[in-house]
Amino acid sequence: MTKIQMKTPMVEMDGDEMTRILWQMIKDELILPYIDLKSEYYDLGLKKRDETNDRITVEAARAALKYGVAVKCATITPNADRVKEYNLKEMWKSPNGTIRAIMDGTVFRRPITVKGIEPNVRSWKKPITIARHAYGDVYKNAEMLVPGPGKAELVFTGEDGTQIRELIHEFDGPGVLQGMHNLDSSISSFAHSCFEFALDAKEDIWFAAKDTISKKYDHRFKDIFQEIYDSDYREKFEKAGIRYFYTLIDDAVARVMKSEGGFIWACKNYDGDVMSDMLSSAFGSLAMMTSVLVNPEGKFEYEAAHGTVQRHYYSYLKGEKTSTNSVATIFAWTGALRKRGQLDGIGELTAYADRMEKAVISTIESGKMTGDLALITNLKEVEKLDSEEFIKAVRSCYEALL
Ligand code: NAP
Ligand code: MG
Repeated sequence: MTKIQMKTPMVEMDGDEMTRILWQMIKDELILPYIDLKSEYYDLGLKKRDETNDRITVEAARAALKYGVAVKCATITPNADRVKEYNLKEMWKSPNGTIRAIMDGTVFRRPITVKGIEPNVRSWKKPITIARHAYGDVYKNAEMLVPGPGKAELVFTGEDGTQIRELIHEFDGPGVLQGMHNLDSSISSFAHSCFEFALDAKEDIWFAAKDTISKKYDHRFKDIFQEIYDSDYREKFEKAGIRYFYTLIDDAVARVMKSEGGFIWACKNYDGDVMSDMLSSAFGSLAMMTSVLVNPEGKFEYEAAHGTVQRHYYSYLKGEKTSTNSVATIFAWTGALRKRGQLDGIGELTAYADRMEKAVISTIESGKMTGDLALITNLKEVEKLDSEEFIKAVRSCYEALL
């Protein structure tokens, strides 16, 4: 069999722990046998990040901007424990944070739904996609411990030296302080990505924030969304039979729980981080959630929404068999390869991605699945597979579809 040829390389960002093990298995079993893979490889494993003083992450993000399509493995965001465990020079920042800061744009997270894994929320009939703003707020903050009594102010100094001041608090004892920012340009591109994605998916889009409390910061988000919707999208939405509305974040949360699904929920950075974990576990498993960062110039970075599955990795290191779900990581690869195929006009590559995703879904629907899904499925005949067996089962299913 001849392998599918690629024209433009895509950026491959390797990662850490159990997902790094899955990464190699997926390549060996599901990709390299069928595709003459052209990729520019960046090792974002923690060891390499430490060796390069995290330069590798910046280089990988720049390469993603250059080539337009990237696929990323889950990576460790170091905390104090990790600094000890890996003997790190520094507590390096979250690679995802670094990549998002360089690429800008919006992260869309969508659950992979299969028959036999029903959402915990009975009313949900269709997937709910979360659009998470990927720039700023608490992820680009400045914060400090307040040592004792004193006055805290927000100060903005314009280029001409003019200052605007706002009292934050008169401290009469120790406390904490945090400063955050966002940019009109980033909020606008967030709004554009959301409206474009909604038109493409032909689904309604909701945007929610807390403008009643945050009367300037969150209100600015609300206004920018509305202005862009009115000027550029209202007609297109009416034609497509979909709608946009803004509501308070607490109202959105309540409505989501009573909805049928089948819409996109646009969230500010922190809300998106938290709510996507809630949605993915309610839809079945963290391992069934895909994630794609879409930047305003139409560059894409695909990944799984879950982390490096540390607990499984420690079992793996002890020589035990793990049953780690590789579905979201496989879909990250197929998402990236499909996009590469679409951008470069390689029909075989998009067909490969469709077929591979179908193979994954059929494998699960036939009762073959990893332990996380076996625990929650309502299928009667279930065969719980280990990490490697599952990937091999997908391969057999894929071959049967050829
Ligand atoms: P995690 O890796 O997502 O895993 C949390 C738990 O969820 C696991 O212990 C496992 O439950 C279950 N789980 C997640 N993915 C699974 C899969 N593919 N198959 C089966 N079960 C799965 O989160 P974490 O343990 O909090 O974080 C581990 C590391 O990942 C941290 O260093 C964190 O910084 C990093 N992280 C990276 C990203 C990213 O790169 N995008 C995102 C989040 C976290 P059981 O143990 O009960 O089986
Ligand atoms: Mg999170």
